[in-house]
Amino acid sequence: MEIKKGIGVSPGVVICQAVVLDAEEYRIPERHISADRADKEAERLEHALAGAREELIELRDNTAKRLGKETGAIFDFHLALLDDQSLLEKVRDKIKTESVTAEFAVAAVLREYAREFLQMPEYLAERVKDVYDIEKRILRRLIGESREGLGNLTEDVVVLAHDLTPSQTASMDRKHIMGLAIDAGGRTSHTAIVARALGIPAVVGLNDVSVSVNAGDVVIIDGNRGLVIIEPDEATIEEHRRFLQRQVEFTRELDLLRDLPAITLDGHEITLLGNIEFPSEAANVLTRGGQGVGLYRTEFLYLEKETEPTEDDHYEAYCKVIEAMDGRPVCIRTLDLGADKYTQAHLLIQERNPFLGLRSIRFCFQHLPLFKTQIRAILRASMKGDVSIMFPLITTVMELRQAKMILRDVMEDLEEEGVDVRTDVPIGMMMEVPSAALQCNQFAQEVDFFSIGTNDLIQYTLAVDRTNERVAPLFTAAHPAVLRLIKDIIRSGQRYDVGVTLCGEMGSDPEYILLLLGMGLRTLSVAPPIIPELKKAIRSITIERARRVARHVATLNTDKQIVSYLRNQIREVMPEAY
Ligand code: PEP
Ligand code: MG
Repeated sequence: MEIKKGIGVSPGVVICQAVVLDAEEYRIPERHISADRADKEAERLEHALAGAREELIELRDNTAKRLGKETGAIFDFHLALLDDQSLLEKVRDKIKTESVTAEFAVAAVLREYAREFLQMPEYLAERVKDVYDIEKRILRRLIGESREGLGNLTEDVVVLAHDLTPSQTASMDRKHIMGLAIDAGGRTSHTAIVARALGIPAVVGLNDVSVSVNAGDVVIIDGNRGLVIIEPDEATIEEHRRFLQRQVEFTRELDLLRDLPAITLDGHEITLLGNIEFPSEAANVLTRGGQGVGLYRTEFLYLEKETEPTEDDHYEAYCKVIEAMDGRPVCIRTLDLGADKYTQAHLLIQERNPFLGLRSIRFCFQHLPLFKTQIRAILRASMKGDVSIMFPLITTVMELRQAKMILRDVMEDLEEEGVDVRTDVPIGMMMEVPSAALQCNQFAQEVDFFSIGTNDLIQYTLAVDRTNERVAPLFTAAHPAVLRLIKDIIRSGQRYDVGVTLCGEMGSDPEYILLLLGMGLRTLSVAPPIIPELKKAIRSITIERARRVARHVATLNTDKQIVSYLRNQIREVMPEAY
């Protein structure tokens, strides 16, 4: 039994067999397989070799066509390597005799081969790059295949990986994936957000869990405590089974609250909305007792396809959500592409610092046709329900004005074309950059609502990358500077009669509910599976107590003091959850 500690980012406990995804750019760990899987692994190897060979022949022929036969011939060495039977025999042999995965056998044999090259005279040692290239090509095939395998699973598994890109998470078969454990990432990385949306336990920031597990090992993922237990003993399994049972009972109790309002003991009604990434999640908002969609992260539309979505792709997705909401509010955020939400591979110019780079609204301003296509679709869809539109990452007043001007232009275009649109669609902005939060009074005079994006607001206020596990302990909503900005935004909303929602992950944590309500917040948008627990917390407190808590927190100077105070407070009102 081995215990790994990471950051619990989606609550719950699961005991299940593991599927492990290697990353071709990292060291491939020595993973063992059962003896009866050796033939299957050898088959996977043949398949990968055949694919790599096809790829190389195509590359050679295309290069020969463009640059001449001699240049094309540089790939002949790669092809000869792939056909080197003695080398391949070594790989096959390793799989069989040592019971290891095809990935490990390929990496081990080719690395050995590369070492031999390095000891040769210089002109031959150069060839080592070709050996690495072949290794990568075969591994990419093998690893790609296991990723695709996650799209059509037949039994329940938990997935362990070094990291997952948004498109990998998007294409996973959600029915059979019961939990996630990831080496990389922080509390608000996309994997964490997707796991919360799926309502499955997840732990990130584990550093090396993906190299410590073999496929098929039994693993416990404890999303509450941030633990992953590999090959647990009987007593540990039993202890977690008991916890699971209590969890099932608690969930049953929460289900009873679904149709009840989120109202405090002293009669203040709170609006609970859902955050969604895909139209298919809209129904879940209602099942969990949400009152609408407070944040629709539309950039996920880009992850499902290789090609750019058309206006109709956008329109259809939005209509699905609006119809599912049946008259309830739907807040559509314009594309927040870039940084962690758009793989760098898609960009022509790689950025050194993508979170401070051409992301989100900045990216949209430089890609106007893409931006206008989306706005056209939102405006058309706005006829079908209670739609509002929201711009992300607004940093200056001029940016907001520019976004609104583009919106007006698109509206006029549509009107000229005779397309029906609502001309009074409420316009809001994300409050997620400190410069905007500090200028909230100016912004309040130019928008209908604010939505506080604590994930980015924390990242930019504290200078802590939200996806970097190495600085994850520094990422906290409880820093007094972050809390002061949140309080100012809420106050500004009250002063200028501008609606304020909080849609960052801070809202998903019941520990903060007393503080947020005490600061005056009345609307939260969270991952749908979190709604019932939050509702229970709200129904267990009074605004009077919440205000007291907020006043006391304002006297504390460190995030540690604040977290421990808030934890004690929520335990007093909702002991069954802890
Ligand atoms: C945020 O930044 O808090 C937010 C809700 O947006 P995202 O997580 O999509 O950046
Ligand atoms: Mg954000």
